[in-house]
Amino acid sequence: MTPARSSETALVLFSGGQDSTVCLAWALDRFARVETVGFDYGQRHIVELAVRLRLCERMMALRPDWKARLGEDHMVKLDALAAMSETALTRDTAIAMAENGLPTTFVPGRNLLLFCFAGALAYRRGAKHLVAGMCETDYSGYPDCRDATVKAMQTALSLGMDRPLTIHTPLMWIDKAQTLALAHEIGGEEFLQLVIEETHSCYRGECALRDDWGYGCGSCPACQLRARGFALFMAQR
Ligand code: ZN
Repeated sequence: MTPARSSETALVLFSGGQDSTVCLAWALDRFARVETVGFDYGQRHIVELAVRLRLCERMMALRPDWKARLGEDHMVKLDALAAMSETALTRDTAIAMAENGLPTTFVPGRNLLLFCFAGALAYRRGAKHLVAGMCETDYSGYPDCRDATVKAMQTALSLGMDRPLTIHTPLMWIDKAQTLALAHEIGGEEFLQLVIEETHSCYRGECALRDDWGYGCGSCPACQLRARGFALFMAQR
């Protein structure tokens, strides 16, 4: 069943990864107008950004009603974040657990910065909603993906810009298997297959190796999460 549609505009944080792609479809089903924003902060999995436009084109080919609601795509370059970060996503260091228990792929404060830029962009574009793929169900433990952090950010942005801004995180309380089920629920088998085939989440930016669950190195934390989610999803079908 198609959900009731808001007459307002939403801005989706769209990286080209599995989660943000499902979020984009979720938003296109709910809002009259949807714009997208991607961030380039020198991440090693730059392939995610390269697939964004092709992915978007294929989604629109699938659903003309989505195409009618899709607006501009914005790309924000965040060189300062790359320069500040000494972690595995942006530097050629091993992906391992750091002493504080967080994977070294954690870029401190990354999502806080992304929300600030997205909030400023939303203000300029007249969008009252942000949609983002953060999830604290089966995640890597990043504190800036947690629901409490996102809620605090929503309050800070609404106060700081003196305009109500709602941050939607449709994947917050579901696991990767349920995310795939949600993709199927929103866009059917064709969209599910597109999500598997065209989205990239691998921290190493590996795009030559194809497994059942999509492309990736298969061994980094993002690939392992994705592979586990896919296996569980298939087992539950
Ligand atoms: Zn990988």
